[in-house]
Amino acid sequence: MKIAFYSTKPYDKIYFEPYSKDYDITIKFLAVPCKEETISLAAGYDAVCIFVNDYLNKNMIKQLKDMGIKAILLRSAGFNHVDIKTAYECEIPVLRVPSYSPEAVAEFAMALLLTVNRHTHRAYTRTRDFNMNINGFMGTDLHGKTAGVIGTGKIGQAMIKILKGFGMEIIAYDPYPNPNLDVTYDTIENVFRNADVITLHCPLTPETKHIVEARTIELMKDGVYLINTSRGDLIRTEDLIEGLLQKKFAGVGLDVYDEEDGVFYEDNSNEIMEDQQLARLLTFPNVLVTSHMSFFTKEAVEAIAKVTLKNADAVQKGLPLENIVLPAGV
Ligand code: NAD
Repeated sequence: MKIAFYSTKPYDKIYFEPYSKDYDITIKFLAVPCKEETISLAAGYDAVCIFVNDYLNKNMIKQLKDMGIKAILLRSAGFNHVDIKTAYECEIPVLRVPSYSPEAVAEFAMALLLTVNRHTHRAYTRTRDFNMNINGFMGTDLHGKTAGVIGTGKIGQAMIKILKGFGMEIIAYDPYPNPNLDVTYDTIENVFRNADVITLHCPLTPETKHIVEARTIELMKDGVYLINTSRGDLIRTEDLIEGLLQKKFAGVGLDVYDEEDGVFYEDNSNEIMEDQQLARLLTFPNVLVTSHMSFFTKEAVEAIAKVTLKNADAVQKGLPLENIVLPAGV
């Protein structure tokens, strides 16, 4: 199988190349992202392999069908960037990596919370400037506070373990509550109302788009902490900025952003920042934005490489496709 591998970064090659030798697979590493302008590069290959800020819309998938592409391989758990229905109609299986390291993402979510709470990102620059003043850095004990977890799947559960380790009470919302979890489920409104920390671990779907917006921010406690390591579009950024200006939030940690496409994962340091909302977000002292890197541990990247190539091999050998993504209702 020949794979056209989009959005390659140096670490992708390091982890994918050795494992590809275990299979009858060759990979063409392309630096460009997968979008309308670059989809033609997939001609002559058997499969495409894409990352979170690539996308495949209806028109692109139809082009892949005409090229004879046999599989769409996602190097991610999330699949909101692919038109799953069209892929299904075109009989191109979409395969994902459902669980590479939920702990990697949960640990990063906690790192964001600890950082915005205790201001370590600012303390770092202050002490390097030999400014040993701690004014403005007062945080709050997490112990005894209430964390609201939205989405109690694999990452949500890993986060719950960590939060409990910090002595926090957990309230949660998930449309499919897990009876085996020792947490109190409530309506999403009540979770927003009663939590001191809100952490988002649900997928981006039409139902979850903008679950954090003016109306739900209004419900939240003053001085709440908000952490998003899931997908940017869960939050309506305009409303978040308004909430920040109203001093609603004690701290906000964002590893994802709704307009990250084309900006995140790139060195833009010589560019003028055109995105006014991102520019505004980056000015708040109590907001920390990172570049969609929660997944980025050795263990997770290794697991992504192994599972992606196993998915590809299953397609080429006609084996059962255990990680196939099907449209809702199929
Ligand atoms: P998962 O499928 O194990 O869990 C998702 C949970 O969300 C499920 O329990 C589901 O019932 C719940 N859910 C569905 N609709 C919901 C809704 N409307 N409100 C609340 N909960 C809802 O997925 P996971 O492995 O825990 O991953 C969660 C998300 O994290 C992914 O969808 C992805 O977007 C994101 N993610 C981000 C990174 C990163 O590097 N930042 C890495 C991996 C995953």
